[in-house]
Amino acid sequence: MEGNYRCFFRAFDFIIISAIVYKMNLNILIDNLPKTSFITIRKFKSLNINTYFDLLNYFPFRYENYSLISPINKLQPGETTTVIGTICDVKYQVTQTGLRIQVFKLEDGTGEVELGFYNQPYILRLIKKDMTLSVSGTVEKYGKKLVIKPKEYEIGGKKIHTGRIVPIYSEKRGLSSKTIREKIFYVLQNVMVRQAHHDTFVTLSLTKGDEILPNEIISFNNLIDEQKAYQQIHFPDSKEAAQKAKDRLAFDELFMIQLSSYLVKNEWKKEKVGYKFTIGNRHANSLQQFINNLPFKLTYAQKRVWNEIRSDLLKTVPMNRFLQGEVGSGKTVVAALACYLAYLNGFQSLLMAPTEILAQQHFKTITDLFKIPRLAEFTLSEIEGLARDDRGGNLKIALITGSQKKFNFQSPSSKPVFNHQQLFSNFDIVIGTHSLISKKFKMDKVGLVIVDEQHRFGVSQRAALKEKGFNPHLLTMTATPIPRTVALTLYGELDISVIDEMPVGRLPVKTYFVNKAKRSSCYQWIKSQISNFQSQIFIVCPLIEESEIETMKSLKAAKKEFINLKNIFSDFKLGLLHGKMKAKEKEEIMTAFKNKHLDILVTTPVVEVGVDIPNATIMLIEGSERFGLAQLHQLRGRVGRSDKQSYCFLFSEKEDLGILKKLDFFTKTNDGNKLAEEDLKIRGPGDIYGIKQHGYLGLKIASLSDYKLIEKTKKAVEYFISHYKVENYPILLERIDKERSGKIAKD
Ligand code: ADP
Ligand code: MG
Repeated sequence: MEGNYRCFFRAFDFIIISAIVYKMNLNILIDNLPKTSFITIRKFKSLNINTYFDLLNYFPFRYENYSLISPINKLQPGETTTVIGTICDVKYQVTQTGLRIQVFKLEDGTGEVELGFYNQPYILRLIKKDMTLSVSGTVEKYGKKLVIKPKEYEIGGKKIHTGRIVPIYSEKRGLSSKTIREKIFYVLQNVMVRQAHHDTFVTLSLTKGDEILPNEIISFNNLIDEQKAYQQIHFPDSKEAAQKAKDRLAFDELFMIQLSSYLVKNEWKKEKVGYKFTIGNRHANSLQQFINNLPFKLTYAQKRVWNEIRSDLLKTVPMNRFLQGEVGSGKTVVAALACYLAYLNGFQSLLMAPTEILAQQHFKTITDLFKIPRLAEFTLSEIEGLARDDRGGNLKIALITGSQKKFNFQSPSSKPVFNHQQLFSNFDIVIGTHSLISKKFKMDKVGLVIVDEQHRFGVSQRAALKEKGFNPHLLTMTATPIPRTVALTLYGELDISVIDEMPVGRLPVKTYFVNKAKRSSCYQWIKSQISNFQSQIFIVCPLIEESEIETMKSLKAAKKEFINLKNIFSDFKLGLLHGKMKAKEKEEIMTAFKNKHLDILVTTPVVEVGVDIPNATIMLIEGSERFGLAQLHQLRGRVGRSDKQSYCFLFSEKEDLGILKKLDFFTKTNDGNKLAEEDLKIRGPGDIYGIKQHGYLGLKIASLSDYKLIEKTKKAVEYFISHYKVENYPILLERIDKERSGKIAKD
């Protein structure tokens, strides 16, 4: 039987090879996958898998070893094995408890064994008497009888899902691991050049037969060839082979990231700013005055970082700096200082936030820092035709969001002029979301662009600015804790500044895990805090689906929880905030909370980043087990933003040991970097909230905790740059481009 099957496939291969050979290209769109429904293709696309190459880069997260093939008379209870034979009997049973069992008898010449499928009646339509079946599963003993509990099976004999080490893929968007495996197998089998008609994979035309790296680098670093690596990562011959494949692909991944950073940095160094900043005594005095007038003293870390930024701003090479600092460490003030220096030089600053709420918050914070009263707010239509305000030495700040366009000046009486087109020229600081750099807005003298939280400023966005005739300084800010080595690897093109000190007087947030039994006394305690101390509380609803976009399911859960909480806290004022609300509604709720018209703000997890309500001192997180540590830390960072003692309570629906351990670690750790590292260990790289979700790190296979590999690839990149010409490696460049464009944040 096995022999026949091989013959059949060899003949089949031959046909495919002749058909495919001329377009052996992994850029083939997945729409071309044979025997694949439109729905499946759509699901792949929703995972951003568009080409065969994308598919090959969807890596398994583990394997099942079904490579042991046993004759039936040698089966041992407890072992995991594969049996290949012919179906000789089919039975359908219903147990006394109503369980429906589909029982098949399989014989292979050495004996017979039963396979029992539970509650899968459809299987009777697939598997029929006299068919050849290969089945992998565990052998169990019932009395004297041996039964196989099938995990995978395939009709016809072993090929993809049985009788080998089988890859297990994470199942997303309703795609089963089996489907993914089948499609990847197809690509590996058919988009490969087979030198001879071996039945193992030979070469895979990833790069038209060429390697993407110079041979010298491959052999020096002991790497297997890339084509083999792609094959072995999915269908490894052994555990060791899978590891070697992973080593190679992880090397490539880190190599490309670092080379890309180098190329960007190199290009950047050749650039000149559109507008050069200077600082004389007068500006220095103004800056000092601004600092003296702040309601607090800058921390040493803030001062150090400001010095780094200031010296960048005075250079002709545009600044490209990454400012990292824990939530609440005070990045906004530093950003405001940079904007002020731009203003003193007569240039504009753009400040981009990832969400409208944050843009609104920045608008308020920054107008407060500059002590600009929010005298008037204009809509876009009102502003058209107003008389142009002469620069009376007053800094003017505008907030522009998608749904409402408001502007704000110190002296609205003078009726400034501008239409849509000229809008920007009248403001010194323009705050908004990414839409700020869209074509709609004409900018005048942008000298500085600041991007806050989560969005890496992409190559194309920079190009969009340059198109408008600017080449501004760039500052990217994030509260996502990223270990320094990692930051240096992934953002090698950036200079890095870290605010590693919290403003004085901040007390660490006291964090407690609250088990089910203590839940009501916790609610009770919260009520007394509101009554006695006017405390304000955030209650975060559980994360239903890990998704950047708030799904209807999450929203429903939040609304349900809101009703529930309203009953519990019936004497208090509650508000609900979620991502599907209009910007105006969001702002109203936030303002109400900020102005203490609400005691409790119930929110979904997607709206949390960066919100600053210093009076809120209690954070209650429902379903905390569903969050990663870094994300929990972000949420906890919403409180503890004043000198009052703050509290964070973790509720959990599940209380198993692993979860308790994780949450216990969290209650004891206040250091974002430590939590990020622990997250890496628990969940694997790329899984950290706010990182993968926003395409920030997005590593597919390399581990960020593998410092050795990071070091090794760094040396390899240095060697490559000094000994080779990048232009001679077009495929490498093409891949880097693809990776890079994937990382650019979408508006
Ligand atoms: P983040 O780094 O998370 O963006 P913010 O810039 O929003 O932090 O600052 C958090 C809060 O701390 C704000 O209310 C801000 O006014 C305040 N703050 C900033 N710097 C200091 C400081 N040096 N001393 C005291 N409070 C400060
Ligand atoms: Mg912030």
